[in-house]
Amino acid sequence: MRINISYDICAATLMLVLLIIHMAKKKTSILQNVMFFVFTLMALITTVFSLMCSVTAMQSTDLNLKILINFGYIFFHNLRAFSFALYVITIMEASLKNMSFKLRAAVVMPIILSVFATLIMIKSSDYWNAFINFREGYFEYIIYIVSAYYLAFGVFFATFNKELANRDFRIAIYLYLIFIVGANIMQYSMPIIPTVGNSDVTFIPIENFGAALCSILIFSTIQKSEEFIDSLTGLFNEDSFSRMFLINSKAKKSFSVIIVYVEDIKMLIQAFGIDKINSIRKDVADFLETIAPKNAFCLSMSTFAVILDDLNDKDLKQYIQKIEDEFEKKWGEENYGIYISARILDIKIPRDVDSLELVYNYIDYLKGLDNSKKWIISAKDVSLKDTKRRIAVENAIKRAIENDSFTVFYQPIYSIDENKIVSAEALVRLTDDELGYISPAEFIPISEQNGTILKIGEIVFDKVCSFMAKNNLNKKGIEYIEINLSVVQCMQESLAVDFLKIMKKYGIENCRVNLEITETAAAYSPKMLIKNMKSLFENGVCFSLDDFGTGYSNINSLMNLPLDMIKFDKSMIDMATNHDKGKIILGSSIAMVKRMDLKIVAEGVETREQMEMFAAMGIDYLQGYYFSKPVCEEDFLKYIKNFKGIEGV
Ligand code: C2E
Ligand code: CA
Ligand code: CA
Repeated sequence: MRINISYDICAATLMLVLLIIHMAKKKTSILQNVMFFVFTLMALITTVFSLMCSVTAMQSTDLNLKILINFGYIFFHNLRAFSFALYVITIMEASLKNMSFKLRAAVVMPIILSVFATLIMIKSSDYWNAFINFREGYFEYIIYIVSAYYLAFGVFFATFNKELANRDFRIAIYLYLIFIVGANIMQYSMPIIPTVGNSDVTFIPIENFGAALCSILIFSTIQKSEEFIDSLTGLFNEDSFSRMFLINSKAKKSFSVIIVYVEDIKMLIQAFGIDKINSIRKDVADFLETIAPKNAFCLSMSTFAVILDDLNDKDLKQYIQKIEDEFEKKWGEENYGIYISARILDIKIPRDVDSLELVYNYIDYLKGLDNSKKWIISAKDVSLKDTKRRIAVENAIKRAIENDSFTVFYQPIYSIDENKIVSAEALVRLTDDELGYISPAEFIPISEQNGTILKIGEIVFDKVCSFMAKNNLNKKGIEYIEINLSVVQCMQESLAVDFLKIMKKYGIENCRVNLEITETAAAYSPKMLIKNMKSLFENGVCFSLDDFGTGYSNINSLMNLPLDMIKFDKSMIDMATNHDKGKIILGSSIAMVKRMDLKIVAEGVETREQMEMFAAMGIDYLQGYYFSKPVCEEDFLKYIKNFKGIEGV
């Protein structure tokens, strides 16, 4: 019999190349990658034995050598099938360790039995005398039974564990089945079937070539590691992090995660340009890779993570210290380097968290911290109650935007001179189905951080204009409505244009709107703020400075802003009510503001005494519960209709 070995040579070459590429490639140290290696290696060894079988069958008469090589072939062929099953199991983030005893037995028993069966047969020299040539007889049956068994196992396991096996993976497994079965059918349906003793026929073993194609298929689908790498930093990406986390926690391993959050990345990009910041991110990545090879991850522009095996607190501290030290230095080239600050958080699993979601909650927590401090914290010292609430509020905001369920309340503002209500402050209200009433003091800062304030600001502005137009507020004595502007809105380039457009839409005179800005807005983004303010001011819109007296009120820095009014914060009002010194401060503040020819609104006026005192001190407008709480549109209309002035003023 002649045997055509060219397919086996091709198969062996392909597998060898595949193994080299696989080894050279950057990959995580998860079991799946190890099992892919083992599985392909088994396939390669099987192919080499198949080649040796063919050569000895044609060229050698040494029976012992043939027996040995045939045994090797059968043994590794079975191992190949076995490692395929193991690979399927590991891919699905399962492992033999946490499988039931029955399932474990189902995986391991066949391979053990097959080894015994082969050994017993090999001992029977009768058998060998009958089949001295090539891989024939009962041996073949063992191979087929074992292979079919493990193939079926893999296919069933993938099919019936749908939550573990994604679609791509299942398709790859089914294709594997088709390839292998197809190769076998081809091998035996070739026109020339080998018969013992007939040396003229040619047999073409093709199965290993099929197996090589399968490995390539799996390599280019399931094992495609590019999908797990962040192309810019070269670190593993977020998907990879999630997967690694899940695999470790499924295996009930104890491990640590260190999160490194780079502060102000957006600002850094604005200041230094994206290229420079990306090159620094790459440096950070390289550094993390050196302290935790193959276990460093890039989760986003600003967030990196390191997964470490279970460490004691001392070692963990050392790791953190190393990272901290590195961030004390400049990043980037010697002369043009910049300092960047990072917040570092360590999480121990399972001590601190039991789910990936919680890890992300901690990351959110880290992001929400204050820039002015140096943050190196342990998850064990942090309560996530705040973060959970924050996420719930974020979702409520999203829902309210989608369902247009924000409302606007109005709080009357009283003019002492005219003894009547001349304006009102618009205050946004959010009542969520799940969380109930949420105070703007809570959700406005959150919406400023996640950017939804831009949408909210627009919604409020639109609603106020619509309300003014519909009810002809001007005719009812309301000269203007005050609307709060957030810092983030002031930084928006299109702010002025957007607002002017909305006022035009409702036919509202621009002077009917008074925008409240805070000092932080002025300090944060002076250029854009001034540009926006100027353009609105030139179109007739007025401005108030809100919350005066809360910050480090430096009125001089606000001199070049086109302001009409200053709103004294409730805390200042309360101080003046309760302390003599507070009254002195209030008095001199009033004098200063008056000298600048600006009007004053006192916020949070709750009693008649306060009202009388502020009237005597020369304050122009009063706002507070003494007059009315913020109320809905309807109640506000009723209020101004019924307001007959304050007696004795
Ligand atoms: P703010 O601009 O200082 O608004 C005044 C706050 O004081 C309002 O709280 C109001 O209900 C409350 N207040 C008024 N009179 C009294 C009083 O006599 N006693 C007491 N104890 N409180 C009084 P609110 O409505 O909870 O708003 C909180 C903050 O949320 C506002 O502070 C403002 O900074 C922000 N905010 C509200 N609506 C908007 C909005 O539409 N846009 C933006 N950007 N911020 C808003
Ligand atoms: Ca305000
Ligand atoms: Ca205020």
